[in-house]
Amino acid sequence: MKSCNATHGLSKHFNILLVPINKKYCFKCKQTKEKSEFHKDKNRKNGLQPVCVICAHERAKKYWLIRKYREEQQEKKSGKNDTTSGII
Ligand SMILES: [Zn+2]
Repeated sequence: MKSCNATHGLSKHFNILLVPINKKYCFKCKQTKEKSEFHKDKNRKNGLQPVCVICAHERAKKYWLIRKYREEQQEKKSGKNDTTSGII
């Protein structure tokens, strides 16, 4: 009985380490998900990205918005406004 309690306490403490073989822990959303929900990454030992597809997508979207914003700022600086002349 005592040993049972000990293992239960251990599994609770090492929850991240005891992830099933077909699953992976996402550091971003802190959830254990199917490995199919992670993008592949050749540069990593386990061949998968540390964050799930959803988190990776969110991150990519954020980078894309920043890049878009910077491009818009540069366009404003150059003083060009070609969006309306394209109708011809
Ligand atoms: Zn995630």
